[in-house]
Amino acid sequence: MYQAPRGTADILPEQQPYWNHVCSAVRRIAHRYGYERIDTPVFEDSGVFLRTVGEDTDIVQKETYSFKDRGGDELTLRPEKTAAVCRAYLEHGMRNLPQPVRLYYVAPMFRYDRPQAGRYRQFHQYGAEAIGDADPAVDAEMIQLALDMIRSIGLRRLTLVLNNIGDPADRARYVAALKEHFRPHFAELGHDGQRRFERNALRLLDSKELAGKPFFEAAPKSTDFLGLEAKAHWDRLLGYLDNLGIAYRLDHRLVRGLDYYTRTVFEIFPEVEGAQSAAGGGGRYDGLMEQLGGKPTPAIGFAAGIERAILNLQREGVVQLARPAGPIVVAYNGAAPKARAMLLVSAVRSKGGRAVLAPERSLKSQMRYADSVRAPKVLILGPQELERGIVTMRDMAAAAQVEVPIDEAPDRLAALEGP
Ligand code: AMP
Repeated sequence: MYQAPRGTADILPEQQPYWNHVCSAVRRIAHRYGYERIDTPVFEDSGVFLRTVGEDTDIVQKETYSFKDRGGDELTLRPEKTAAVCRAYLEHGMRNLPQPVRLYYVAPMFRYDRPQAGRYRQFHQYGAEAIGDADPAVDAEMIQLALDMIRSIGLRRLTLVLNNIGDPADRARYVAALKEHFRPHFAELGHDGQRRFERNALRLLDSKELAGKPFFEAAPKSTDFLGLEAKAHWDRLLGYLDNLGIAYRLDHRLVRGLDYYTRTVFEIFPEVEGAQSAAGGGGRYDGLMEQLGGKPTPAIGFAAGIERAILNLQREGVVQLARPAGPIVVAYNGAAPKARAMLLVSAVRSKGGRAVLAPERSLKSQMRYADSVRAPKVLILGPQELERGIVTMRDMAAAAQVEVPIDEAPDRLAALEGP
C-alpha cells in the first residue's frame, strides 16, 4: 500500500475548518493593510533561489528539491516565497506601480527537512512582502502586519524579537569581528560550528549547541557595527515601534538563516508550551533584487508557518472549530420517487442550497446516513408523497417533520443557507 511521502500530509475534510480559519484570517488582515494576493508557480528556475537565499545556507545546501526537467531546465520546488515574488516583481515591471507594492500569499513550500512534529517537507506558509520603499515606517508596518495576522489566527502572548544585521559593508565588518572573536575558541565550536565559522560565520549565532557558553554569550553585536544610514534607520524603526505601542525584545543572536537579509530582522514567538520555534519571521532584503538582475530596490517581508500555527491552536484549545453542518439529504422509496428526488436535489442546489441524494438503501438506513453526514434536514419522498405532490421535511435536531408542497421545498431549503 502506498503512503503519502515522508514529511508530507494529507489535509482531510475534518481538518479543513482549521485551514479555512487560518486562510480567512490572513485574507482579512491583509485586506485591512492594503495587501493584495499574489500566486507564483510551485517551481522556479533553480537560480532564483540559489542566487538569493545563498549557496551556503541550509536551505540551498541540503533542503532543495531540485531537478532537471525533460527539456533540460534546472528547476527547484520553491523552499520559500520571497525570491519568487521578487522574480515576479521584476518580470512584470512592478516598479512602475506606486511603491511600495504590497503583496501577500498563502502557499505550499518544499524543503528536504528532517520530519518531526511541526516540521514537514511540504508545508504551507502565509506571508507578505512590501517592495520598493526603504522607509523604516514600512518595517514597522510589516512587523505590525505579521503580529496582527498571527494574533488573528488565535495565537496569544506573542513575543517580538528584533535585530539589525546592517548593510552588506556593515555585515562584512561584523563578520570579520565575529571570526576574530571565535577564532581562539575554534576547537570548542564542534563540527557544525567549525563549518559555520568557515563558510557563514554569522550563522554561528543561531547555533543551539553553543548557546550558554561564556565565549558565545560574549560575542560582538551586529548593532554595534551599523553604518550611519543603517543606524539611523534602526533608531527610527525603534521609535516607530514605541509610537505604535509594539513591544519588542532585542536579541543580537537573531540573524535569520538566509543570505539576502539586510538591516531589520525579526521573529515572532507564541508563548505556547511545547512550541519549539518561531511562529514566523522576516526581515529587510534591500539587495535581493540586484541578485536577480534588477535595479536596487528596498523591500521587507515576513513568512509564517500554517501547520505549526494549527498545531499550536489545537494544543492551546484557543479556537474550537466545529465541523460545519452537512448538506440536506433527499431520501426516497421506489424508482419513481428516486427520479423525482434527483430533480429535487438539483432544484435545491440551483436555488443556492446544499443537497445530496441518499444512497439507495432502505429508508431507515437512508435516515442513518443523513444523521452521519450531519444533515440538518431530510426530505423524504415515497410513492404516496409523490401522488399528493408533497414531500416530508424532517428536522433532524428537533426530530419533527412537516409536509411541504414539492415545488416549494427548494426555496424553503435554500433559505436555510442564508445569503
Ligand atoms: P523560515 O522561512 O525558515 O523563516 O520559516 C518561517 C516559518 O515557516 C517558521 O517559523 C515555521 O513556522 C514555518 N516552517 C519553516 N520550515 C518548516 C517546515 N519544514 N515544516 C513546517 N513549517 C515550517
